[in-house]
Amino acid sequence: MTIIDGKEVAAKLRKEIAADVKDWKEQGNRPPHLVAILVGNDGASQTYVGHKERACSEVGFRSTVLRFEADITEEFLLGEIAKLNADPEVDGFIVQLPLPKHISEQRINEAIDFRKDVDGFTPVNTGRMMLGLPAYLPATPDGILELLKHYKIETAGKHCVVIGRSNIVGRPIANLLSQKGWDCTVTICHSRTKDLASVVRTGDIVIAALGKAEFVTADMIKEGAVVIDVGITRVPSDKTKSGWKLLGDVKFDEVAPKCSYITPVPGGVGPMTIISLMKNTLKAAHKEVL
Ligand code: NAD
Repeated sequence: MTIIDGKEVAAKLRKEIAADVKDWKEQGNRPPHLVAILVGNDGASQTYVGHKERACSEVGFRSTVLRFEADITEEFLLGEIAKLNADPEVDGFIVQLPLPKHISEQRINEAIDFRKDVDGFTPVNTGRMMLGLPAYLPATPDGILELLKHYKIETAGKHCVVIGRSNIVGRPIANLLSQKGWDCTVTICHSRTKDLASVVRTGDIVIAALGKAEFVTADMIKEGAVVIDVGITRVPSDKTKSGWKLLGDVKFDEVAPKCSYITPVPGGVGPMTIISLMKNTLKAAHKEVL
């Protein structure tokens, strides 16, 4: 059994991106510039945006965070997005979710110019991805593909069971792995799936992305399966200084011995997600994708 080391793979890719940025700047270009919009005071969102800022500085990008009060109007936010769409000094931007309830995430998402949509969430990028055209891929699915590639995990003809059908993880990773080059036979399970355990047991590759701590147990996993755990749930803990710890969607200790490969939480998929955002921003600066 091999534990997939997302931190190590992320560090390798980070170095490659930093080297590319250095060359780019030496050729007389300005650094790639990522802007994040943060609305309100959600603690987790602030942490995620902080991680993104740090990742930018590590690879030599410029980053800007636009912070707005939770009571701004949707029209105001649409105006800010229009400015970013038109700003030649901005290569890519993201709107950190969730947004306050009175703002439509869908309307905001659709207002983002797909050429600057480095989260890969707009309908144009989603459609292009589905068609197998060059697109900004959503970061978490792209991070999973990078891990499979790095560990040379065979996917062709394998049965991949994805648990979860969200627009940002479950559905895109299911779509990507069914495409030419990855060639998996894919099944998507969700909250209405009947006898989910017996479906998951048929998976050569199982991707757990449902957000329920330690949901996947050893009896649901076939001997020798590859298990990718996307879930992140914060639970209280008296064993850590912070008073909480992170759990994945997989009961790691009992599932790991049955696997050929498994990602831990933390240190598996998580570190890859930000790297994929950096990859997309670099591509946007190079005008490589669209
Ligand atoms: P989501 O809540 O949008 O979607 C969850 C999906 O799981 C839904 O499609 C639902 O149908 C399905 N589901 C819920 N309960 C189920 C059950 N009992 N059986 C089968 N399916 C069930 O979540 P999301 O945004 O896709 O995130 C999923 C998890 O991944 C969360 O824990 C999130 O924190 C984590 N996540 C991690 C990263 C990362 O970088 N590692 C990135 C994104 C999300």
